[in-house]
Amino acid sequence: TPNTLEIVGLRKVFGTRGKAGGVVAVNDVSFAIARGEVLGLVGESGSGKSTIARLIAHLYTPTAGEIRLGGQPVPNRLGGAALRKFRKHVQMIFQDPYASLNPLHPVRYTLSRPLKIHKLAQGNTDAQVSSLLERVGLSPAATYIAKRPFELSGGQRQRVGIARALAARPELILADEPTSALDVSIRLDVMNLMLDLKDQEGLSMLFITHDLAGARYMSDRVAVLYAGTLVEIGPAVEVIDRPQHPYTQLLKSAAPKPDAGLVPEEIEARGEVPDLKTLPPGCPFEPRCPHAMPECRDGLPRMYDVGGGHTARCILHDPAITARKQGLVGV
Ligand code: SF4
Ligand code: MG
Repeated sequence: TPNTLEIVGLRKVFGTRGKAGGVVAVNDVSFAIARGEVLGLVGESGSGKSTIARLIAHLYTPTAGEIRLGGQPVPNRLGGAALRKFRKHVQMIFQDPYASLNPLHPVRYTLSRPLKIHKLAQGNTDAQVSSLLERVGLSPAATYIAKRPFELSGGQRQRVGIARALAARPELILADEPTSALDVSIRLDVMNLMLDLKDQEGLSMLFITHDLAGARYMSDRVAVLYAGTLVEIGPAVEVIDRPQHPYTQLLKSAAPKPDAGLVPEEIEARGEVPDLKTLPPGCPFEPRCPHAMPECRDGLPRMYDVGGGHTARCILHDPAITARKQGLVGV
């Protein structure tokens, strides 16, 4: 079966207006998400995570690259009926459910609208809306169906946001920091709900977070983004427990040690978030990297295979560099 999603050489440059000097927010990023798979996308704020989700969702237009759904290329510009059709397959869950739900609209309206837009409505949609509410744990549905966002807790609002995404019966959900605006005490409930729904519906998911513990809990594989560049990707447990890129290692060392493995905590790496306008020509992490060598400035390192479907963009994995560092080869 083809992958649910593939992005190939996706690039986004902001602020050029046709001239040089734009900011490269997403730099030739490629990855795939298989059917039923959760890919975690981690990195600091400003690393390009949300931009990638917005490019996939066609909220932004890529500067270059290709997006494929079910193996078929999707045009980079979509509008009207084509965009509506695309949204039936790809839905987003946003960080702040309060901002993403219209404050004037009761739950009934918020959830029946996508049913109508995607021509899934069957007569009076109350039964369908109630079933959506039950599926996201808002039960009994009659308690919630007439409520407006301000009458709901943050966790309940995010459940409505999840139900709205599910209403279209998509194959792919793009979840952009869906738990970071929620109280720590309810994050695990919302993550478990998303995992249950993924299993029941056979969904694929891009789960964006800056929280390594949350990414490890939610994801089958994890991709790490630094300054718009994919620096590491592989099985979630491998990438997070045995990171092979110095940036992922820094992220991990900066993370608070959770008491239990499952407690999600917000983390930010130490040091400066890079200024995307003044990135060095080679490895983007070079100014902060404790292992930097002169060769790191020679060009963007390629992705090195470190085994088990795990790759890292760092020349420390280049056998020639390793040999020279160990003094095995004359300089
Ligand atoms: Fe550090 Fe060099 Fe590896 Fe970049 S390529 S992460 S600067 S060692
Ligand atoms: Mg973001």
